[in-house]
Amino acid sequence: MCMEVKIRCECGQKEASFNLRDNIMPQEVIFSLYCPRCSSEIELNESTMIWDNGWIIEYDMELARFMAVAKLGIPAEKVTPAFLFDEGYATWKELYPGELEDIKNEKEAIVAILKEDPHRYFKELRDWANARMARLKEEGWRKAQLI
Ligand SMILES: [Zn+2]
Repeated sequence: MCMEVKIRCECGQKEASFNLRDNIMPQEVIFSLYCPRCSSEIELNESTMIWDNGWIIEYDMELARFMAVAKLGIPAEKVTPAFLFDEGYATWKELYPGELEDIKNEKEAIVAILKEDPHRYFKELRDWANARMARLKEEGWRKAQLI
């Protein structure tokens, strides 16, 4: 079971949805969130933060370590920002913040083809999905690199 959590960034302009895998981590483990706009005003501290294509998530590492040791039996030193993000314990719900919205917009044009030519629709859809994933990898989104 995954609980969804929405967090607003420090400047207040953007919001991102998070997944907390198996509810191991409480949402307080996400100490601060910086969108590409407000992240330019802070220094990246790799011991508590993860950078993802302009976004920065700052974790409460003390809390994260405490929970990981207590609930997962993982040695405290293995609990890093990358661990929290890549293992899904406190990560984007989507591949990147705002992905679902983007998909909706991009897909609309393709869905219009369905009525006219179903065969072409499936081809277009497949091409779009492949091109999209290649683009996200190229843009450098962290979760796209893991796929
Ligand atoms: Zn912001």
